[in-house]
Amino acid sequence: WLSFLLPIPSFPKLFSFRFSVLTMASHIVGYPRVGPKRELKFALESFWDGKSSAEDLQQVAADLRASIWKQMAEAGIKYIPSNTFSYYDQVLDTTAMLGAVPPRYGWNGGEIGFDVYFSMARGNATVPAMEMTKFFDTNYHYIVPELSPEIKFSYASHKAVEEFKEAKALGVHTVPVLVGPVSYLLLSKPTKGVEKSFSLLSLIGNILPIYKEVVAELKAAGADWIQFDEPTLVKDLDAHQLQAFTHAYSELESSLSGLNVLIATYFADITAAAFKTLTSLKGVAGYTFDLVRGTKTLDLIKGGFPSGKYLFAGVVDGRNIWANDLASSLSTLEALEGIVGKDKLVVSTSCSLLHTAVDLVNETKLDKEIKSWLAFAAQKVVEVNALAKALAGQKDEAFFSANAAAQASRRSSPRVTNEAVQKAAAGLKGSDHRRATNVSARLDAQQKKLNLPVLPTTTIGSFPQTIDLRRVRREYKAKKISEEEYVKAIKKEINKVVKLQEELDIDVLVHGEPERNDMVEYFGEQLSGFAFTVNGWVQSYGSRCVKPPIIYGDVSRPKPMTVFWSSYAQSTTKRPMKGMLTGPVTILNWSFVRNDQPRSETCYQIALAIKDEVEDLERAGITVIQIDEAALREGLPLRKSEGAFYLEWAVHSFRITNCGVQDTTQIHTHMCYSHFNDIIHSIIDMDADVITIENSRSDEKLLSVFREGVKYGAGIGPGVYDIHSPRIPPTEEIADRINKMLAVLESNILWVNPDCGLKTRKYAEVKPALSNMVAAAKLLRSQL
Ligand code: GLN
Ligand code: ZN
Repeated sequence: WLSFLLPIPSFPKLFSFRFSVLTMASHIVGYPRVGPKRELKFALESFWDGKSSAEDLQQVAADLRASIWKQMAEAGIKYIPSNTFSYYDQVLDTTAMLGAVPPRYGWNGGEIGFDVYFSMARGNATVPAMEMTKFFDTNYHYIVPELSPEIKFSYASHKAVEEFKEAKALGVHTVPVLVGPVSYLLLSKPTKGVEKSFSLLSLIGNILPIYKEVVAELKAAGADWIQFDEPTLVKDLDAHQLQAFTHAYSELESSLSGLNVLIATYFADITAAAFKTLTSLKGVAGYTFDLVRGTKTLDLIKGGFPSGKYLFAGVVDGRNIWANDLASSLSTLEALEGIVGKDKLVVSTSCSLLHTAVDLVNETKLDKEIKSWLAFAAQKVVEVNALAKALAGQKDEAFFSANAAAQASRRSSPRVTNEAVQKAAAGLKGSDHRRATNVSARLDAQQKKLNLPVLPTTTIGSFPQTIDLRRVRREYKAKKISEEEYVKAIKKEINKVVKLQEELDIDVLVHGEPERNDMVEYFGEQLSGFAFTVNGWVQSYGSRCVKPPIIYGDVSRPKPMTVFWSSYAQSTTKRPMKGMLTGPVTILNWSFVRNDQPRSETCYQIALAIKDEVEDLERAGITVIQIDEAALREGLPLRKSEGAFYLEWAVHSFRITNCGVQDTTQIHTHMCYSHFNDIIHSIIDMDADVITIENSRSDEKLLSVFREGVKYGAGIGPGVYDIHSPRIPPTEEIADRINKMLAVLESNILWVNPDCGLKTRKYAEVKPALSNMVAAAKLLRSQL
C-alpha cells in the first residue's frame, strides 16, 4: 500500500479515484483523444506555435487520459483500453514504437521524442511530412509508414507500457492496445524506389521481435489482457495475406503465453475465409466483431464459434451519434450468449469511439427531443455497460425504459417523417434519370449560347476567405450586425471577386462563395432534416477535427438556397457566372447519417432538394451550374462486393439533380481526388457536361483513362496547378502542363482551371497564379 501513497504530481485532483463499482463484462475498443472541447487540439497547436512548453502539452494529455479512464471505470467498464491516446496518430505511434523512422528525419536512435515524432507527422523546416491517407472508409487520416527491405527496427517508443503504468498508478487496470503487426504492414507503403522489388509482409519477421519486447514489458507491468487491432481483416484479403496472420500470431504465441490476447476487427463484415483464419489463430483468447456494419458476421458466429473463446460483441455503434436501441441489442446479445456461453460474452463497441463525437453533455443548444435520440462517446460507454449489466441479470429498468421511450419518439416524431418526401424518393428507385440529349450534342447547344474560346478558363468556386469576411459572417450569425449590413458586405465581396476575374480575363466566373464557411454546413443549415452541434467534433487528422451535421429526418428544401447570391453575381457581369452547389453524395458522406433507413434513401432525398435548387438557378438565368461531388469516391464501401451498388445509387443521385435542365444549361462537377481508374465508368455515368478534377501531379495516365473511358466526349478540366501550396506557378510551367494534357486529350474538350477551390490561399498568391494560368491558356490558344 506504500506505493499507493506515492505522490504523483501530475494528477493532484484525480489521483484519489478508486473504484468500488462492480464491473460488468463490458469493453471499449478505443476512445477519442481530442477532448470534449478539443483541449488536445489547442494544446498541440499552441505547442507547435512555440507558445507553450512540452510539459504543458504533456499535462493536458495526461489530464485527458486520466479523465477518460476515470469515466470508464466509474461507468463499470471491465476492459478499459490504454494506449489509445495519441499526440497525432496511432499508426504513427506504432512507427515510433518500431523505430521505423525514415532516414531523412535524421533520427539516430534512443527514445523517440516530440521532435522526431512531429517532424514525421507534419514535416519541419527542411523535410516534408510523411504521407497521410484515409483510414479505411472513415474520415480519419493516418500517417503511412514507409518501409524498405533495409530498414532496421528497434524498440524506440515505450508509450504503450508507460500508459499502462500511468493508468495503473491511477487505480485503473487497463487493456493495452497495439496496432496489430499484420495490419501495420498492410497499412504501410514501400519506400520510393523499392516498390516493385519487395513485399511489405516479408518484414513480419523483423517487426515481431519488437512486439515481443513490448509484450514482455507489458506482462512485467501487470497486464493480463492485450488487444491487437487488426482491422485489415475485414478487407478482401487473399490467401497469402490471411496466411500472414496465422504466421504472425503463431510466432508470437510463446511470448503471449500467460496473457489473454484479444484481436479487434472492425468497420465491416468479415469474410468467411478471414473469420476462419481469425478463429483458428493460436494463443488468442477472444475477438471483437463490428456487429453494426457487420450484420452478416452474426451468421458466421452462429455458424460456428470456437468453444472456450471470448466474443466481444460490438453492438454499440462507434461511427455514428445515435443512441443505441438497447432492447434490440439486448436480444442480439442474448442470442449470442446461447452460442458462446454466458461467461464468454463481452459487450463492446463496434469500433473505436474515435470516429464519433465526444460528449453530448456539452450540447446545450441542441433541441431537447433530438438530443434524446443521440449518444456520443461518453454516453456510449454508459450504454455498453447498461447492456452488460442487463445480461448479468441486473437490468437498470429506468435506463432501459427511458431509452425505449426515446427510440419510440424517434420512430414516430413528425420532425423525422415527411410523407411527401418519402413518397417522392421512393418513386425514384428503379427508374433511370438522365438528360435526354447526349453530351456532345448538349455541348454544341451550350457553346452556341456561351461562345467560349478554346481552352476556356475557370476556377473551382471559392476565393480567399479573409479575416474580415469570416468576421462578417460570425457577427451576422451572432446577430451583431443586421441582415442589411451583412448582405451589403457579401455583395461588396462578390463585386471584388467578379471584378478581379474580369481583369484577369477568366471566361467562366464564380461568385467566390463568401457566404459559406463550409460546403456542406451551408446547405445543411438551409435544408430541413439537419441538426448542428456546438462541440460534436471528430478527429480528422492530427489536431484537425470536423463537425459533421446530423441528418435526423426526411430532407427537403423549404426555399431556394443560393439563387439570391448567384443571380446577384450574374447581374454584375456579362460573362457566364457559375452557380455553385454541393452534390447529394458529398452532403451525405460528410454528415452523420440517420440509421433508420438505408443511406441510399437519404441520398435520394438530398438529390431531390438539390434538383429543386438547380432548376431554380436555371430559371433565374444561370446557364452554368457546378455541382461538387468532392466526396463521391470516399464513400466507396470497404467490401469490393458492395462497391457496385454504392456507385449505382450515388451516381443516380447525382444525375437526378440535373436531369431536368435544358440542353443549353451546362452542368459542371468537381472532384478533389485523382484515383479514378477503378471508378472511371461511374464518373462517366454521372453524365456531367464538364468535369474538373484534382491533378496536381500532372498524371498523364489519369488523362488517358479519361480518353479511353468510352469516348466520353464531355469537357474535362484537370487542375493545372496545385492550390494546396502557396507556391506561384510560372506561366511556362502551366503551359507545359497544358501541353502535356493536349498530347492526350483533344483541345476542344480541355478546360483550364486550378486543382480545387482557393479558399485557403491568400490574394497575394491567387492573383499572380491565376494571371499566369490565363496567360498560359492564351499562349496555347495562339499556337493551336
Ligand atoms: N466549390 C468548392 C470550393 O471551391 C469545392 C471545394 C472542394 O472541392 N472541396 O471551395
Ligand atoms: Zn476540390
